[in-house]
Amino acid sequence: MVAPPSVPLLLDGRALADSLRTKHAPDVAWLKEAGRTPRLVVLQVGADEAAQAYIRGQRRGAEAWGLSYEVRTLPADSGEAAVRRAIRALNADRAVTGILLSLPLPEGLGVRALQHTIDPEKDVEGVHPENLGGCFRGRGLLPCTALAAVALIEMSGVALEGAEVVVVGHSDIVGKPVAMLLLGRDATVTVCHKFTTGLAAHTRRADVLVVAVGKPGLIRGDMVKEGAVVVDVGINAVPSDEGPGRMRLVGDVAFEEVAPRVAAITPVPGGVGPVTVAMLMRNTVLAARGIPPPDDPNQLPLFAH
Ligand code: NAP
Repeated sequence: MVAPPSVPLLLDGRALADSLRTKHAPDVAWLKEAGRTPRLVVLQVGADEAAQAYIRGQRRGAEAWGLSYEVRTLPADSGEAAVRRAIRALNADRAVTGILLSLPLPEGLGVRALQHTIDPEKDVEGVHPENLGGCFRGRGLLPCTALAAVALIEMSGVALEGAEVVVVGHSDIVGKPVAMLLLGRDATVTVCHKFTTGLAAHTRRADVLVVAVGKPGLIRGDMVKEGAVVVDVGINAVPSDEGPGRMRLVGDVAFEEVAPRVAAITPVPGGVGPVTVAMLMRNTVLAARGIPPPDDPNQLPLFAH
């Protein structure tokens, strides 16, 4: 295990996102030269306020990576059939190499059914069952946040083989895929959720703790093992000291209490978020290029640093 230093290693998501972009720049250049510029289209139904920050981040990411990016907005009162038609049109459009269905959707629309309509080869968020299944083998268009969490763990230098990993949160798009990917690295993985009793007893055993819940302050200082690696996926807006009505972003981990005890930790913001966007861009490049078969010597590595 990584020895606890006096100052924890801050796992800098922005630096990791930059290195992913640099690593894939030749792929983007090659695709552009071949007349196959990766093109990501985001479909939103209405314009949910909370989703706009993620969309702004995606747009900045696409610009930095040199990818084509467009947001298409359907009226908020669109029925499921209309959304399905729009997705099928994107599936059929050869110039579109990546499709992302922005969440949340207005009430009454079936998220899963619509996500399953996306062509798995253009599903750059990794939400189609075919791609979620790819987490079993660690290849394909995998869920971006799960990839980001694993890449940040790798950045810490911790040895995953045999490590006790605890994942808090078992959503289909973060917690479960992270658990699968880390099982694939031969870690011993425990997944905790809302019905887990004695959460602290689990988290205190973790050499690597991944938290993806959406509850600020869920993980306190006395809930982590000395010298652990902590990846905080949560993003929560809480009132800021800077004045009435001002908000700031925090994770699920009480950073000030936890950081002094651990070997490495992700900040919020600046940890998982920027790497998630970079993984989305990377998936868009992979989708445009075509995922090489496993025995192809040119196969891109799962992670790029
Ligand atoms: P989600 O679908 O709401 O899942 C949250 C998970 O936490 C569920 O499995 C839930 O269990 C579990 N949970 C709820 N209360 C709990 C508790 N007290 N103790 C343990 N587990 C509990 O959310 P998500 O999409 O996975 O996202 C989780 C967080 O990550 C959110 O803050 C989200 O904003 C953030 N996020 C960040 C990024 C990024 O790029 N940084 C990307 C995606 C998500 P049940 O299913 O039983 O309710």
